[in-house]
Amino acid sequence: NTAIVWFRDDLRLADNEALAAALSTGGPLLCVYILEDGTAGFRPLGGAARWWLHHSLQALGQDIAAKGGRLDLFCGEARRILPALAEAAGARIICWTRRYGGPEMAVDAALKAQFKTSGVEAKSFNGHLLHEPWDITRGDGHGFAVYTPYWRAASAAAQVGEPLPAPDRLPAAPIPRGALRTTSIEALALLPEKPDWAGGLRAAWRPGENGAQERLKAFLEGEIASYSLERNRPSADAVSRLSPHLRFGEIGPRQIFAAVRTAWDNAAQKGGVKFLAELGWREFNYHLSFYHPDAARQNIQRRFDKMPWREPAPRELSAWQRGETGYPLIDAGMRELWATGYMHNRVRMVVASFLIKHLLIDWRIGENWFWDTLCDADPANNPMNWQWVAGSGADAAPYFRIFNPVLQGEKFDAAGDYVRRWIPELAKLPNKWIHKPFAAPPALLRGAGVELGKNYPRPIVDLAEGRARALAAFEKVKG
Ligand code: FAD
Repeated sequence: NTAIVWFRDDLRLADNEALAAALSTGGPLLCVYILEDGTAGFRPLGGAARWWLHHSLQALGQDIAAKGGRLDLFCGEARRILPALAEAAGARIICWTRRYGGPEMAVDAALKAQFKTSGVEAKSFNGHLLHEPWDITRGDGHGFAVYTPYWRAASAAAQVGEPLPAPDRLPAAPIPRGALRTTSIEALALLPEKPDWAGGLRAAWRPGENGAQERLKAFLEGEIASYSLERNRPSADAVSRLSPHLRFGEIGPRQIFAAVRTAWDNAAQKGGVKFLAELGWREFNYHLSFYHPDAARQNIQRRFDKMPWREPAPRELSAWQRGETGYPLIDAGMRELWATGYMHNRVRMVVASFLIKHLLIDWRIGENWFWDTLCDADPANNPMNWQWVAGSGADAAPYFRIFNPVLQGEKFDAAGDYVRRWIPELAKLPNKWIHKPFAAPPALLRGAGVELGKNYPRPIVDLAEGRARALAAFEKVKG
């Protein structure tokens, strides 16, 4: 009477309906994670996400062990591993939390069919979203293409349920005999080897369910009160930084929703509404990607297929990746990303706009770089946000809205604190020039120890020229 719990992007014990359902059978549990590398159609995880996954699995394994259970790791095709495991363990039931990528859903559907024929009950649950993508529909039954009516409909939909507590005990089933071999966390080879670029990530994060809960608590006791006013200022540290925890399901949106609503009375109301509306963007992006499963590869608005991108990508691409464009806000963001696996949302929008518009480089190239370097690299949020900036998405910013990185810096980082944090070479520049060192008087640069072209680059593109080239390219798409 063994029950299998298949962990995927729900690496937590609390508010995990799949786990609760398996436990309620009363039998011992086989807790399983499969690294599905190489499954046809699956997008391989990027480097930063692999680093996160390693630590998250380690934390989950410890949390399960502390309650008497065991997490078994496998690597390969779920369709091959799980039926064999169920048979070897004599399992009657397998439970998992639903996922929403096209190829992933196809694997899950095939497994359900396969289990049905072998008499194993396969049960799936929602734990990744407040609302399933197909539950929020327009009057005509179709999905939404615009955020505001989507979130209005979602907010009016059935109440979000109360999150479940973590179980007290997790009785472990014996390791099944047979040909299937579990693997070790080291053998999954998720960590970088040479060079070890993860030092900044280790300093910045605490992956795992406990780290996620700590982060939420600190946010609700602190930053949320100023969230609606300060969330656009990258130096203000006013955002939750919950995104990688959410990405791997170390915390679920239901838990966040309930905790925010409980904190309501503590002057956090305004920040709370805004914060939940941001979670709404995450929901909306999952809703969109359910209807556009190819969105990481394909323009949602197909007229953008005609965009005359510069191909092959010019060498300015590597200056952008390394944070050496000569525009301090861009460079600070790209260096923050490389060092910590995270970038503030406002800066993500500006660096993406710069790549797509001022450099006229295909948004998919930027999306891929983010996919590889972000700890929160998310199959729905990353492509949808890139398409939003590119103007090719469903509810997208218009292509002709081109962020000026100097003006954005002056507006959202007026005192230059964010730039100084990530580009110490510029630290001594007065505020007036911190976002445009290339325009500063030479004597002033010298006095501040800045040598353009030596310790800080000159701009790789003229903003006015880049903007004009982008608008001319857009003419080809407009028609
Ligand atoms: P908070 O402001 O504290 O927001 C709380 C949560 O709301 C976030 O954790 C996230 O789940 C959700 N959220 C906030 N803003 C957005 C948004 N614009 N779209 C969707 N959900 C949002 N977010 C990812 O989680 N993964 C990605 O791969 C990703 N790629 C992005 C790429 C680009 C070009 C841009 C412009 C944005 C991207 N975002 C992505 C959205 C957003 O930047 C991050 O979710 C946010 O910065 C995470 O920080 P936080 O948790 O402190 O956010």
